[in-house]
Amino acid sequence: MTQKELGYVELEWTCKRCGTINPGMKRVCTNCGAPIGQDDKFELPDQQELIKDQEKLEEAKKGPSIQCPYCNVLNSADAKICIQCGGDIQEGLTRQAGEVLGAYKADTVPDKPCPFCNQPVKANAQRCPNCGGSLVETAKPTATQSKAQKTPIWLIVAGIALGVLCIASIITFIVLNNRTNDVTARVADRSWQLSIEILEKQPVQKSNWSEDVPSDAQDVSCEDKYKETSSEPAPNSVEVCGTPYTVDQGSGAGMVVQDCEYQIYASYCDYTVLDWAVVDTVVAQGRDNNPVWPVITLQSGQQEGDRNEQYHVTFAADGETYTYTPDDLSEYSQFDTGSEWILSINTFGEIKEMQSK
Ligand SMILES: [Zn+2]
Ligand SMILES: [Zn+2]
Ligand SMILES: [Zn+2]
Repeated sequence: MTQKELGYVELEWTCKRCGTINPGMKRVCTNCGAPIGQDDKFELPDQQELIKDQEKLEEAKKGPSIQCPYCNVLNSADAKICIQCGGDIQEGLTRQAGEVLGAYKADTVPDKPCPFCNQPVKANAQRCPNCGGSLVETAKPTATQSKAQKTPIWLIVAGIALGVLCIASIITFIVLNNRTNDVTARVADRSWQLSIEILEKQPVQKSNWSEDVPSDAQDVSCEDKYKETSSEPAPNSVEVCGTPYTVDQGSGAGMVVQDCEYQIYASYCDYTVLDWAVVDTVVAQGRDNNPVWPVITLQSGQQEGDRNEQYHVTFAADGETYTYTPDDLSEYSQFDTGSEWILSINTFGEIKEMQSK
């Protein structure tokens, strides 16, 4: 993530002595003259405006203020002696900084009527410009936390019941799958099938990033497509930013920032290349004990592809038939037609074990 700086806003603080809400960069209360307490925090005002005044901006950027150890008044980060009492502030407390105070609200808060003369005044005005009445509010009530909702009991019961049902059906399946009974069966039929693929170079449609398209590709058509996300700015990318938020600078001002990432686009192409493709499959099959691979004749430009072997054995017992698929020729060759076997058959009619009789 790249953190983009959008500017600075002045925060506010509430005077503990008289309850007045003061602009963040006011060193003492506008009403009673008390300084901000060491534990009092700067907060986000409802009305947030990016600071445009150059001098104020310089002050905001200086970083955490230092609280005078003698009179508690805040001083600029680079101050040596207190602006209020002249005391040495080397030992003073540096204000906390870096806390995220909340989302930055760029929308202006609508004007509100003055409680004395009813004329509309700016939401953050300290004093009515019309009648001169004080518009300083007292501290805002803290928001009450909403309680997490409890999960209803019937939902818990239903969940447990569902879990029990699941386990029961798994156990039932395992039992039925493993419960077998032995039958004597005869090999009624068996068959083998051996096949070889014939390959030939054919035009094949493919897609890839343009740098990976082979040089002999034809009918290449490309368009930009999302490839990856970078945390740093990159060429041919779209910047995607989150909601701006304000970070306490400890100077009475907050820095408005935005976390951004960069969705990089690159050229992605469809193209045609010649590649080996299956054009034919030559098959040999039989029911005897001597499977042989089919004879293939390759034309020019052809080559042999995958070889594939399949074996099937059918058992008959008491009017039922059971099918078995041997893995390879050596297993297949044990099942002479007419030979007798003892099969362990499970509830689903599958052969679990077998033994020559
Ligand atoms: Zn005060
Ligand atoms: Zn001082
Ligand atoms: Zn007024």
